[in-house]
Amino acid sequence: MINEVIINLLYIVAAILFIVGLKMLGNAKKARKGNLISAIGMLIAIVTALISNNVLQWQWVAVGLIAGSIVGALAARMVAMTAIPEMVALFNGFGGAASLLVGWSEYHRYAVASDVMDISVLSLLIIIVTILIGGVTFTGSIIAWGKLAGKIPSKPIQYSGQKIVNALIVILLIGGAVVFAPLRDLMLLDSYPLLIIIIVLSCILGITFVIPIGGGDMPVVMSLLNSFSGMAACAAGFVISNNVLIVAGALVGSSGIILTTIMCKAMNRKLTNVLFSGFGSGKAKAGAGFQGEANPISVEDTYIILEAANSVLIVPGYGMAVAQAQHAVCELAEQLEENGAEVNFAIHPVAGRMPGHMNVLLAEANVPYEKLKEMDDVNPTIEMVDVVIVIGANDVVNPAARTDESSPIYGMPVINVDKARTVIVMKRSLNPGFAGIENPLFFNDNTRMLFGDAKKSTQGLVAEFKG
Ligand code: NDP
Repeated sequence: MINEVIINLLYIVAAILFIVGLKMLGNAKKARKGNLISAIGMLIAIVTALISNNVLQWQWVAVGLIAGSIVGALAARMVAMTAIPEMVALFNGFGGAASLLVGWSEYHRYAVASDVMDISVLSLLIIIVTILIGGVTFTGSIIAWGKLAGKIPSKPIQYSGQKIVNALIVILLIGGAVVFAPLRDLMLLDSYPLLIIIIVLSCILGITFVIPIGGGDMPVVMSLLNSFSGMAACAAGFVISNNVLIVAGALVGSSGIILTTIMCKAMNRKLTNVLFSGFGSGKAKAGAGFQGEANPISVEDTYIILEAANSVLIVPGYGMAVAQAQHAVCELAEQLEENGAEVNFAIHPVAGRMPGHMNVLLAEANVPYEKLKEMDDVNPTIEMVDVVIVIGANDVVNPAARTDESSPIYGMPVINVDKARTVIVMKRSLNPGFAGIENPLFFNDNTRMLFGDAKKSTQGLVAEFKG
């Protein structure tokens, strides 16, 4: 056993490394290093926790470490870039399950020892909170995974009286916790059935909480559940009196809430609207019908327009990720620049299927980070842009969000590509995007539809430039 002071000092070092690493994640150039620094912090925390707690069964720790490392490394290597959100949802769920198990095992330890005086009412309450948040996070994240991976319908699943059922479960859980905490005075084993009921109800609440939310809102839900998993870990830290788990959990909990707020702001919606409105259920008004026809364009004609352009803005979306077109897009940008055009990329905060999705893909293709502009920076001057190329984006460039009060996405900030002089939209059909909403952009006079797979179309344009 090492000295208590040294243990806490090492925990402080680990916490500082977490915070420094997190800060660096905010800057694309330093993000990789930030990730590594936080990982070193985690290693210090794990080793310190193992040494300080006088671990008796090292073989199980070793089995867990090896199994976890293999699963983590394989998942990170094998998962497709487009499936990262699902993976995050799944891992988030495992974090919740881990907290639930920590709370449960701690309870079990006291229950089996039957030494009621060893556990305070507060500790019992914290155990319940850990189990409750862990259970909700676990099943909620699994449902989010199912929706993102298309294993269950991504549409909101709603039924009458849903909110009342959810409220009842919450009341039952709070009631259960209030009854449970004073049970310290009874034999803990006697209260085991109540604990099991609380575990089951928490897991049910996670499911009933997420199923009425549409797939389009899953990024916000994931971010919120991520925050929950942080809070669950924080509560677990109190249960096992581990300072570094408390700090790490609080960091995850607070950063998840901050990200949730940023995403709601990006969609101009309140969190309550995201969680309880059943957005995308088809119950909302579909918006005004659109007049006119879409104007298709060939690769050759698109080249002629681009060849004459002085300024080009590229707006990528989920379709670029599906087509894996990022390298071809980077090559097209280089060709346009060689031709004398000023080229920038406009990134919408919720383009793709995870926060930062487009940034990651374009960074992989070595697009210089300075070229990536935020929505708020491009919108004020977008009228001056000669050509906007929309590559596999749909919802994030839908002008109905600005102009059609009857549209379900009315009020969501979008990239105002329709205001540019000419818009080229690369996609395979006129099908709607993730939110399932029609896009009047495709029918505008200044829009040309370059139908086809985004990678093939982009490669075609590059070939035209190369002559
Ligand atoms: P959208 O989902 O709105 O649209 C993507 C478009 O890409 C589709 O309309 C599709 O049209 C097209 N597409 C698909 N495959 C290809 C291909 N191979 N080549 C060319 N085009 C293709 O994407 P956006 O990025 O505009 O918007 C993101 C949406 O996803 C938002 O609604 C957001 O709320 C939601 N979301 C965001 C998350 C995030 O964190 N960023 C997470 C989860 C959801 P077609 O079939 O005609 O080709």
